[in-house]
Amino acid sequence: MSESSLSALEQAAAKPLPSSGKLAGRFPLYAHPSPSSDQEVAQVLKKLQFGTAFGDFMSAATYTEDEGWHRQGTIPYGPLSLDPAAAVLHYSQEIFEGLKAYRHADNSIWAFRPNYNAARFQASARRLVMPEMPTELFVASLIDVVRADTRWVPDLKGSALYLRPFMFASEGFLGVRPAVEYTYLCITSPVGPYFKSGFQPVSIWVTKQYHRAMPGGTGAAKTGGNYAAGLIAQQDAKERGFQQVCFLDSVQGEFLEELGGMNVFAVSKDGSVRTPRLTGTILEGGTRLSIIQLLRDQGREVIETDISINQLVSDIKSGEVVEMFVCGTAAVVTPIGHLAGENFDVTLDNSALTEQVYDHLTGIQYGTIEDTHNWMYRLA
Ligand SMILES: *Cc1c(COP(=O)(O)O)cnc(C)c1O
Repeated sequence: MSESSLSALEQAAAKPLPSSGKLAGRFPLYAHPSPSSDQEVAQVLKKLQFGTAFGDFMSAATYTEDEGWHRQGTIPYGPLSLDPAAAVLHYSQEIFEGLKAYRHADNSIWAFRPNYNAARFQASARRLVMPEMPTELFVASLIDVVRADTRWVPDLKGSALYLRPFMFASEGFLGVRPAVEYTYLCITSPVGPYFKSGFQPVSIWVTKQYHRAMPGGTGAAKTGGNYAAGLIAQQDAKERGFQQVCFLDSVQGEFLEELGGMNVFAVSKDGSVRTPRLTGTILEGGTRLSIIQLLRDQGREVIETDISINQLVSDIKSGEVVEMFVCGTAAVVTPIGHLAGENFDVTLDNSALTEQVYDHLTGIQYGTIEDTHNWMYRLA
């Protein structure tokens, strides 16, 4: 295991970006006929949920083979006009990203490793045979929409302006082949914590019945189809009284993979930490990657490896594994309090390291802890 070697995505994300002042303006701002009033914005920001409110603007671009990326703009958020034959509606050629804009105490607005999201968006595009959006154009789309929607960036710790860049096949055509026209959009949504319970342990059902990914499939790409395929498992977990579902590998049905939209970690009593290795069926989370780095910075051993569910359960029972947590941009870092499947049911009541990781990561994101890796990028 090469602990220090960087993943391809990490390498791509290590290239420094020009300042936002240099990239701004590539998505020219269009006038909004009826922007929300300051009072309406304040109302929404007072009681934030996850993904229910949206900003006034979205950045947009079109790709065609002939013209490449063109028709860029920051335009009023609103319904799209779409050909009913648009390939995305039939064959799901779609990818997305998710990141947050954080307001710091001095009112500056920052993103966490946006070049990582740009690199992952390109990797997802390659898997779905879609055009890659160059990193600088991708980041420019974030800068321009955030600058148009600054009023929507909340200032409470734990809340942020969630950015959702996505791209889909907009060509109207019913044959099965990669489309020749694509639409890119980035919408914004002011959000509070993902789990209503806040920093409370979540309960997880480990499904043997359903899988989200398979070798050679699209598990490592951030594409809507993976989520659609996982909904039934999520619903099954809910019906059993659990908040989230965890998937196992689809070949042996034994090794821990991840949740529908979060990566997973286990902490051993000797202080070492394990997380499933990237096999091509797991989405490589930027939060996962950053947590691994922060833990290694502390001199802690972090092992990316296969984690057998049977071994894990007996390790939890014996006290060998003392703590588990899930992580992702939306959920940040959340402890697992209850883990169950068809033939096991265990609880965990420790979240000391999880809280430390949460404090460290969010401290960097909200600008209260030194950002030694230069992960933060000023948007506005
Ligand atoms: C987005 C996502 C994650 C988390 O990735 P982050 O970059 O940390 O937000 C994990 N798993 C899946 C399936 C995802 O779609």
